[in-house]
Amino acid sequence: MSAHDVVIVGAGSAGCVLAARLSEDPRRRVLLLEAGGRDSNPFIHMPAGIAQLVKHRGINWDYYTEPEPALDGRRLWWPRGRVLGGSSSINAMCYTRGQREDYDAWAAAGCAGWSHAEVLPWFRRAEDQARGANEFHGVGGPLAVSDLRHVAPLSRVFVEAAVAAGVPPNDDFNGACQEGVGLYQVTQRDGRRCSAAVAYLRPALSRPNLRVVTGALASRLLFDGRRAIGVEYARGGRLERADAGEVVLCGGAVNSPQLLMLSGIGAGAELARHGIPVIADLPGVGANLQDHLDFCTLWKCRTQDTYDFSKLGEAWVGLRYLLTRDGPGSSNVAEAGGFARTARAVDSRPDVQLHFVPAQLDDHGRNRMPGHGYTIHACVLRPASRGHLRLRTASAADAPAIHANYLAAPEDLATLVAGVRLAREIGAAAPFDPYRGHEVFPGEDACSDAELAGAIRRKAETIYHPVGTCRMGSDHDPDAVVDVKLRVRGVQNLRVVDASVMPLLVSGNTNAPTIMIAEKIAGSIAA
Ligand SMILES: Cc1cc2nc3c(=O)[nH]c(=O)nc-3n(C[C@H](O)[C@H](O)[C@H](O)COP(=O)(O)OP(=O)(O)OC[C@H]3O[C@@H](n4cnc5c(N)ncnc54)[C@H](O)[C@@H]3O)c2cc1C
Repeated sequence: MSAHDVVIVGAGSAGCVLAARLSEDPRRRVLLLEAGGRDSNPFIHMPAGIAQLVKHRGINWDYYTEPEPALDGRRLWWPRGRVLGGSSSINAMCYTRGQREDYDAWAAAGCAGWSHAEVLPWFRRAEDQARGANEFHGVGGPLAVSDLRHVAPLSRVFVEAAVAAGVPPNDDFNGACQEGVGLYQVTQRDGRRCSAAVAYLRPALSRPNLRVVTGALASRLLFDGRRAIGVEYARGGRLERADAGEVVLCGGAVNSPQLLMLSGIGAGAELARHGIPVIADLPGVGANLQDHLDFCTLWKCRTQDTYDFSKLGEAWVGLRYLLTRDGPGSSNVAEAGGFARTARAVDSRPDVQLHFVPAQLDDHGRNRMPGHGYTIHACVLRPASRGHLRLRTASAADAPAIHANYLAAPEDLATLVAGVRLAREIGAAAPFDPYRGHEVFPGEDACSDAELAGAIRRKAETIYHPVGTCRMGSDHDPDAVVDVKLRVRGVQNLRVVDASVMPLLVSGNTNAPTIMIAEKIAGSIAA
């Protein structure tokens, strides 16, 4: 008999949900392995600490893509959380689920059981909605969803300006209709970040049947023939082994396909290149990579109304937050935004997402610019471009090669150009008149489509939503990696449950959808 009924690899958005839900049954012995450490950094828990977290290498996998052919050969920075809570401990906390049609498209693509009507109960089960329950929202779940405690005046100006530019107002992007602009709801409770670790894992930590091991880098899955029987992991310079009745991979869209390949599950030729014996020849592992590519239009602000990232400004924000759990320290910084149809939209569905930041945001906030400014992000919601991941070496300690392949499909560039034009229309609307300084990016000289396309190639960045690299599909789909119960095809006792299983990127941020996926699978395992 195995020492553990279930070994979960990765304590991120999905892994924390599974560890908590599966250990609700006291007879089930659950082991959760996490490569990173405890979530003790205070900047994780103070929402505006996100501006500091970009500098903290210790809790970040700190990935870079390979040179991107359509982005002037730039290598894009891909932060991913390496800490309890995973990326939910470093994300921007915007709570959005995507569009009803996203999930209906999953079902139509062969993912029986994943239509919008079938996933909605799992979103509701996860949720503790501060506004109360209704047909779309739940209360009493682990994941706190609330309105921001502090909103910068300029974020409200953004909403007014977008409405003046013709985008409808919307106070619930997760209700009957997604289209429109407003303030984001956030995954926070009492002004603190509600990561998956805070929401799910902490309340479960005292259970005797749940063991959490941090600093444990899973290096390989162990098999008896085609049956997964455990995980080998490195900890404190030693290789250890955890035996398992079932292994559940929750390493996220980069690490789950990497670990599958390292363990002999992937495209046979790719595995052979690294001398890895093939257990299951699954060409879909690492393929089908999709992400939201984003461009920031940035204006200088003529007043002092934007967030102040000077040392003195930050010290004051921190002190006020400690005393009151309120003020700018409780802001997720990306306070307002929404979902809009550009001039290129082909149907009634929004084709871009906007995030408004009442601060000068350049290079993910890593480039601190002097003075005051504000930023409207625009990203393409349903890119047609597809990338892939490859092993660089046969070691889990080495990052895989990420070929995001952004803008490989020309329509993605055209939509992003239209998104930047929409951002500019909003920026030009009357409510911004008292604030608007000159446009820094893309810059007032960039007018034609070709000039805007050039600016995008020079400056566009990820908005952190890679998915699809272990995609789910029907039993007849040769490129599917997992079936609709998220069991890896061609082997036994192994699942992948995280953002990598999404067959198509959802039209919104990906934390809540990942948590929904984990809730749904935990429910089916427990049933
Ligand atoms: C900077 C940033 C901002 C974002 N903003 C938002 C937002 O505002 N709203 C939103 O909805 N989404 C946002 N996202 C996206 C969202 O957070 C992710 O899509 C989601 O957290 C992915 O969950 P996951 O479970 O797939 O992976 P993760 O949460 O990344 O978890 C994977 C876990 O597995 C661990 N792991 C990986 N490999 C191994 C290994 N070999 N051994 C042991 N452990 C391993 C990792 O350390 C990590 O803890 C953001 C993401 C980032 C990075």
